[in-house]
Amino acid sequence: GNGCNNFCSYCVVPIARGREVYRPVQDILNEVSELVKNGYKEIILIAQNVNSYKYNANAAIRQLAERMPRIANNVNKYFNFADLLRIVNDVRGNFWIRFFTSHPKDMSDELIKIVAKCDKICEHIHLPAQSGDNEILKKMNRNYTVEHYKKLIKKIRQAMPNTSITTDVIVGFPGETKAQFDNTTKLFKEIKFDMAYISKYSPRPGTAAGKLSDNIAKSEKKSREEKLMEILRKTALENNKKYIGEVVKILVEGKNKKGEWYGKTRMGKNVKVRSKKFPPKADRSLAEEMRSKKNLIGEFVDVKIEKVRGFGLEGELV
Ligand code: SF4
Repeated sequence: GNGCNNFCSYCVVPIARGREVYRPVQDILNEVSELVKNGYKEIILIAQNVNSYKYNANAAIRQLAERMPRIANNVNKYFNFADLLRIVNDVRGNFWIRFFTSHPKDMSDELIKIVAKCDKICEHIHLPAQSGDNEILKKMNRNYTVEHYKKLIKKIRQAMPNTSITTDVIVGFPGETKAQFDNTTKLFKEIKFDMAYISKYSPRPGTAAGKLSDNIAKSEKKSREEKLMEILRKTALENNKKYIGEVVKILVEGKNKKGEWYGKTRMGKNVKVRSKKFPPKADRSLAEEMRSKKNLIGEFVDVKIEKVRGFGLEGELV
């Protein structure tokens, strides 16, 4: 998908890219089937606002039903994002599904249920909070409250206890007081995010917020960013400790300069892998590695986690 219908006051996307455009469900299905047939192991559905996906299904149902009869009685007049996930999950093959970026106002109970139910969808929800303060959220035109956001996280964790939760947040939005920022620190302490992308506010020309005075000093924005980072480092590390001694499945993505394999778990955790069986050669190029018999790139492997950091895990191939 492309574009956005939301007009968050700080964001240039709806102005620069226009309104949301939804790809036909059969196009997506065809592309996913093709990729999986060609050995791709991870399918990522991406849009500015991925969970507002909708597609008029009347024509699509007829086409799809020829290939997948059980679909026909199973969907509404419109495919929503939950329907789309279910359909992609039904594609045969051994692969994972991820999706970015969800908007809290479009995170339906149905969607949470489907994510929990579908075996290929990874246990990782990226849900931008942007602020922990209702006044600021209003000024940002985000159309939800902190209470709504927290309720969503509770529902997600109830449905999928192991899910990792990541977020985006902006510090130093025009007029953000210390007390308002403090509400964001409270949100961080309460939710215990696994990762957060923290931006220091900067005005974008043409946006509603761009007309407001950017009145929070640079140094103050920096210090707010650091305060959130400090909480994040602690909560992320705390969350990762539960993996020590556990065997987790990862999809190997490559090897680093030191010649260690690395990849991600379903929860989106970066993992460094040691392997006695398949020692990668530091001097071998990625292309050579891909051709070599001892190549793990693109493979699902099991790793026993021995060490955790705030933003990553380390372990041995089992
Ligand atoms: Fe849309 Fe995201 Fe920009 Fe808001 S921040 S207008 S949801 S792209």
